[in-house]
Amino acid sequence: MFTVWNEKKVRTPERSKCYSLEPMSMNSLDTESLTSYIQRLSEAHSISVSSFVKHLIFPTLYTDKNQDYSENDLYRVYYKSYSINGFNQQTSFFLRALKELTNRRDLKSLSWLKLSPLLTIGDIKVSRNWCPACLNEQKNENIIYEKLIWSLKSLTICLKHNCVLESTCPNCTNEIKQLDLYSVIGYCPKCKGWLGSNMVVNNNTNEENIVWQKWVNKNVEDLLKNEAVEFVDRDFILNKVSHFLSRHFNRTSNPLNKLAENMNYDRCTLTQWKRKAQQLSFESLLVLSYCVNTPIEVILFRENEINIKHISKFKNDLIKKKSYITLTTEEKRNLLYKFINSNEYPPLSLNEVTKQIGYKSNESLRYHFPAECSLISSRYKEYKSKINAEKVHLAKKAIRECVSTALEEGKVLNHGYIQSKVKIGKQFANLEIREYIEGILEKNKSYYE
Ligand SMILES: [Zn+2]
Ligand SMILES: [Zn+2]
Repeated sequence: MFTVWNEKKVRTPERSKCYSLEPMSMNSLDTESLTSYIQRLSEAHSISVSSFVKHLIFPTLYTDKNQDYSENDLYRVYYKSYSINGFNQQTSFFLRALKELTNRRDLKSLSWLKLSPLLTIGDIKVSRNWCPACLNEQKNENIIYEKLIWSLKSLTICLKHNCVLESTCPNCTNEIKQLDLYSVIGYCPKCKGWLGSNMVVNNNTNEENIVWQKWVNKNVEDLLKNEAVEFVDRDFILNKVSHFLSRHFNRTSNPLNKLAENMNYDRCTLTQWKRKAQQLSFESLLVLSYCVNTPIEVILFRENEINIKHISKFKNDLIKKKSYITLTTEEKRNLLYKFINSNEYPPLSLNEVTKQIGYKSNESLRYHFPAECSLISSRYKEYKSKINAEKVHLAKKAIRECVSTALEEGKVLNHGYIQSKVKIGKQFANLEIREYIEGILEKNKSYYE
């Protein structure tokens, strides 16, 4: 006979409005950034970032009809998108909305909120930065994402690939915002070009820069792991730095001006820090800690362990300027041959190759590598003329079809008629097309006479 079912009430987990997409590389220095997560989440729902922000993010937080938002508020998201990964209101705004949409509670670590007492607005990069080699690797693994650490101003190279982080598109040379209306992860929102490349590996040849960047990485890693950081405020930092300077730098042992000189800072700035009269940026704190060979975490939380043995010199050019790609002539030649032998289609123009190798103009590249350059440009010309020939061929075909329809229907055939029917735009100005049309009109003249 039938058994009686013991019906237990099944508890279904709470449903979220959006997929509860898992962020990449959580709890590591490679953690995904919030802007990257927004792009991936939009993509997972097959909608543009613009629609995602407009129809999901904003309505989630502006539920009150009286408290409406304007187009301008929406636009500001992109204009100030650098602050989404940061540590201010904009960050909290997106975190609240995303938490509600995805039911995830672990998204805070995709921003710099945890280190907010240590950061000033200048510590976060305004435009998007990325490691082209990381992107290329990720593409092969089928999951592309951007790392939060790339948005920190003091971080300028990828230690994994020893290459300079890029901030301009290699195809159209535009700077890219952290988030744009139609951002697609790994691609330029302006020209839709791919931002990855494996040609950049080891383009950082500055040893000192590597030491400095390792210091930056290590300090950020330690601070992110430290549980006390979240509970301190800006005054705490000011006090600790002031205390540190007063205790270890005085006229007899270590003069403050010697430290200032090694840091490449103005002495007055350090005096101000000592008096708690001026806020330090995170970058300044990194430089200070680097020069005294004492991690920030030790200065702030373990002052009894401090033992300054010597003061290192900090080279100013490590932070002031973007480091340009510096390759030897031989390395440049090898790179040129990589481009020449590559089967990439369409082939790169000489302009594009010049940019990727790090030369400012074609002339200087041609001067050093005339044969290689003419190979590259002739291949590109060949490609262009092939494309043009195809276009002309298609245009002529469209004109022929238009003419035969006109004749069949007994229409009056002239320039105006053809131009109104054949949609080839600028190609009407092409000499070959113009002559072709003249020829056809001439041939059919007798038809109307
Ligand atoms: Zn990398
Ligand atoms: Zn571009």
